[in-house]
Amino acid sequence: MNRQSTTAQAARDELEETRRRQLIEVTIDSLAEVGYVGSTLAQIASRADVSPGLVAHYFRDKDGLLAASFRTLARRLAQRVQARFALAHTPRGRIQAVIDANLAPEEFDQRTGSAWLAFWGQVPHVQGLKRVQTVYQRRALSNLCHALKSLVPAHEAHSLAAMIAAMIDGVWLRAALSSWQEADSASARALLTAFVDGRLKEYGPAAAEPAGPSRPAGPSRHGASPAIITSINPATGAVLAEIRVDGVAEVNAAVGRALEAQHLWAAMTGAARARVLRRAANILRARNRELAELETRDTGKPIQETIAVDVASGADCLEYFAGLAASLAGEHLDLGPQAFGYTRREPLGVVAGIGAWNYPLQIACWKAAPALACGNAMLFKPAELTPLTAIRLAEVFAQAGLPDGVFQVVQGYADTGRLLTRHPQIRKVSLTGEVGTGMAVMADAAASLKHVTLELGGKSPLIVFDDAKIDNAVAGALLANFYSAGEVCSNGTRVFVHRRIKAAFLERLQARSAAMRVGDPMDSATQVGALISEAHMEKVLAYIARGRAEGARLVVGGHRVTTGDLANGFFVAPTVFEDCHDDMAIAREEIFGPVMTVLEFQDEDEVIARANATEFGLAAGVFTNDLTRAHRVIARLQAGTCWINHYNVTPVELPFGGVKLSGLGRENGRVALEHYSQLKSVYVAMTDVDAPY
Ligand code: NDP
Repeated sequence: MNRQSTTAQAARDELEETRRRQLIEVTIDSLAEVGYVGSTLAQIASRADVSPGLVAHYFRDKDGLLAASFRTLARRLAQRVQARFALAHTPRGRIQAVIDANLAPEEFDQRTGSAWLAFWGQVPHVQGLKRVQTVYQRRALSNLCHALKSLVPAHEAHSLAAMIAAMIDGVWLRAALSSWQEADSASARALLTAFVDGRLKEYGPAAAEPAGPSRPAGPSRHGASPAIITSINPATGAVLAEIRVDGVAEVNAAVGRALEAQHLWAAMTGAARARVLRRAANILRARNRELAELETRDTGKPIQETIAVDVASGADCLEYFAGLAASLAGEHLDLGPQAFGYTRREPLGVVAGIGAWNYPLQIACWKAAPALACGNAMLFKPAELTPLTAIRLAEVFAQAGLPDGVFQVVQGYADTGRLLTRHPQIRKVSLTGEVGTGMAVMADAAASLKHVTLELGGKSPLIVFDDAKIDNAVAGALLANFYSAGEVCSNGTRVFVHRRIKAAFLERLQARSAAMRVGDPMDSATQVGALISEAHMEKVLAYIARGRAEGARLVVGGHRVTTGDLANGFFVAPTVFEDCHDDMAIAREEIFGPVMTVLEFQDEDEVIARANATEFGLAAGVFTNDLTRAHRVIARLQAGTCWINHYNVTPVELPFGGVKLSGLGRENGRVALEHYSQLKSVYVAMTDVDAPY
């Protein structure tokens, strides 16, 4: 075979493999919904939009398809156990890894659980399934036994391993028999952990050593890297997890995997990619509470926000771009009778996403959704302060059937980020972060001429005219400053209020700000949670001190909150300054905390000039009842994202991004597809070639 036909064969093999995987995911869905008997070849073919003959071509018959699906589930579970083993440092940690992997939320849910149940019911009757089950059972026992041998006498290790395995199966079966009404992954793991701890105690203190902090599985690591990220709950100071940092070897390996996977992914139709993204959106919604709680612990943001916004907006974004994936198209161009042309919209290849810490999961989704819809593979690095939910997103994608390697998480500090931005085989980087980071990223990306999208900081104006509904304007100013404790890039922190209504505005603003409830972020009544870190809190408090020193009048707040349990966390009261001037530091620089500056103005031209007198240009808002004025003013404001009579609402349909130093490119909206794809122009000759020589 020549080289060309070898390559063509490899491409066909890849495509076949992709189809096989798709059919397996559809089978798992089908088993979960209609059970073993209902899952016929015809039914699965119709769900997958293919002919029954094609399913038979790949799997021969129903038993072949089900055995392949069962093997996929068992292999996936084995990989999860291995990933957790890589982070477990003690025998007890390895036992915990088996428990955590088997009872992880992504295993312990209705879809996966119902599929396992359907298989188990058939194991005694179908030889192919029996073999998979035997291998799976042996592997679980041997993993447990191996770890137990260093904790208990050798002759007891086997029976204890069998007991733990039986407990896992039992907990799992009970959940399945309750139709997953009583399925709670955290309680199931706690039950098993207590059982194992209790049994090990009988063998003395050495065996009963704690399993150590739970370490979420990151990407596979090659070679030991000493650097560790310690993730802290900013509300309590407690350690949440320790994550190993990825270095050169890990990033190169991840890029290698992504390059391979991207070809497969891009070869799938847009409609097939859409199905995976839609499934991921559904899984995110199904796991909303668990993910919101994790996000709250990692960021300090109130649960009432994360449960309503963070996970849901990520899911909305995946769903939106799933809807667009099949609509990617080029155009046909008529070039007269001798030729025509057409364009193809193609993916860029392997792209990188680098996230900030304020909306970790949402940012990961905002970058991944358009990237994957276009057929790219993505390496995503979350901010080192919030490394946890991106790992969960990778699990969700795997569960949704995304081919391995298409979305990978790399962990680390700015050094790891630089490995991505300087990597010659990464074709694009999308960053959410500070202006200085944006400049560094763009400079690094220049060496390999990468595409860049930069979502950077801001110091946005919110203008309240004297005809505005004051209560709406006050509500808008609160949303523009105190949501997520002020850690929002688009916040309208310069609130320009018309002189005629300033006193009334301030009176209501003071009352509503003072009534805001600062507290434990896990309490659903809490409205203002913790800032991301002690260092960041100190920075915010230093700005407050500077505002006072520069002569601004403190209307409300202005201090750290340390009452009761909050003493160990990084809480700052919602703070409003008035009598501010445009040249004060608090009115010029991004604080990224709950600090609002109120500035007075008298006329439209004056306020527009002052609003635009900043190097930033992320967002702007106008409150007025005069429609003509609203549009006139918005047209003159230098900002990428604007609101009339509202603030900080960011529906996925509307492009989001900044001008001036606030960034380049846009996220969300149909336009985001252009930032993750490139055009190929094709000229097609319809006549003989008439060369002049
Ligand atoms: P940073 O700029 O400090 O960090 C952003 C990310 O870039 C982090 O993952 C960071 O890693 C990484 N990084 C830092 N230096 C480099 C480098 N030289 N090369 C590659 N990667 C690098 O921002 P924060 O995380 O502090 O987030 C707050 C900022 O983000 C604010 O300015 C805010 O306005 C902006 N932001 C903008 C948004 C927008 O859409 N416009 C939305 C949300 C926030 P590590 O943290 O591990 O050091």
